[in-house]
Amino acid sequence: MTFVTGCSGPRGEPAADPDLAAEIRQIRAIDNHAHPVRAVSAGEKPDRDFDALPVDSMEPESDPVALRPGSPAVQEAARALYGTAGKAQTMAAKGADYPAWVLDQMGVETMLANRVEMGRSVSPPRFRWVAYADALIFPMDNAQLAARNPDRKGFFALEDQLRRRYLDAVGLPQIPATLPEYLARVVTPTLERQKQGGALAEKFEAAYLRSLAFDAVDAATAARVYQRLAGKPAPSEAEYKPLEDYLFRYIAAECGRLGMAVHIHTMAGAGGYFDVGGANPLNLESVLNDPALRKTRFVMLHGGWPFIREIAALLVKPNAYLDFSQQSLMLPAATLAGSLREWLELNPEKVLFATDAYPYSNEIGWEESGWMAAKAGREALAIALTGMLRDGQITRPRASQLARMILRDNAITLYGLTNKN
Ligand SMILES: [Zn+2]
Repeated sequence: MTFVTGCSGPRGEPAADPDLAAEIRQIRAIDNHAHPVRAVSAGEKPDRDFDALPVDSMEPESDPVALRPGSPAVQEAARALYGTAGKAQTMAAKGADYPAWVLDQMGVETMLANRVEMGRSVSPPRFRWVAYADALIFPMDNAQLAARNPDRKGFFALEDQLRRRYLDAVGLPQIPATLPEYLARVVTPTLERQKQGGALAEKFEAAYLRSLAFDAVDAATAARVYQRLAGKPAPSEAEYKPLEDYLFRYIAAECGRLGMAVHIHTMAGAGGYFDVGGANPLNLESVLNDPALRKTRFVMLHGGWPFIREIAALLVKPNAYLDFSQQSLMLPAATLAGSLREWLELNPEKVLFATDAYPYSNEIGWEESGWMAAKAGREALAIALTGMLRDGQITRPRASQLARMILRDNAITLYGLTNKN
């Protein structure tokens, strides 16, 4: 089987150099962002901790081609994963080893699992935790924010439930009366508990809930807003925003102190009501430029699509990184290769491989989406590096080095992981 079919360079050569493509297929990857699902035994409740905001309750949108039922790429993934045995039988046969087996099929050594909680079968060393922090920045009555559209209504209900879980974990029936108490008794202990539980990073899905423009707000202003809103019904977005902004930067600073990275969803997506402009990574510029946050490493997930050039410009900030998860699932490899090449030409140390493996449906589970995104991500990398080779920008040994950096070494450096091979 050829590596990239029907796709060739201007001189008729394959878009990806076959040797380089073969080499890239062999590199065991670190997947910077994904949502693996726990294996459950018969009679056990299905796992719902794979996302704080599962996207299966949204109103219908116009699905991109790659995610439509019956797409050839999905069928190819199912064949590659299960052969003639079928999915249910394979799951039953593998039992608790099933999630790690899926990683083997994807060529992934370690998957950063963005989950509410980890659990049996989705645990270290193959899976490393990325916890959720959004519930902490919306501690008040969220009814007015939720009223913006039907999808946000569903999302805020889930955030309210998660904040309840976080309050239970610190033994509080409700949020404290003042901001300093809220920070000391809820926010910091939650982050510390997650760090102790093995979290490498905190994830914000804030782009589902508001814009990414988190302004600098001083502690006294935030404390006044907190006291004014605590226990009151449904503040407006304008009243509430300074507190959310302050809490975001507080959490980011705490992550820096605790040695956790901050992951931020930066991509159009999550439904037909999603605020695409609000998710523009340029909205994060003042956060990245905040001298108090230079010790925090920010990873902009999904490569900022469609703002792929804006995000490229942000990579010069020493605390800014990106991954290309979700793009690797939604876009053809040749299209992703274009943005990937631009990033590699500028700051290749800041670019991370990732899939955003996710249980969209029974047909497109985290297994199929992960397998497809891992394959397309590798193909895109091979095409981008081949283009740079052919244009005389890099040598063949440098192409190998860059491939390893994107697929694993950059993540190892960023999170301080141990390099096993
Ligand atoms: Zn995700």
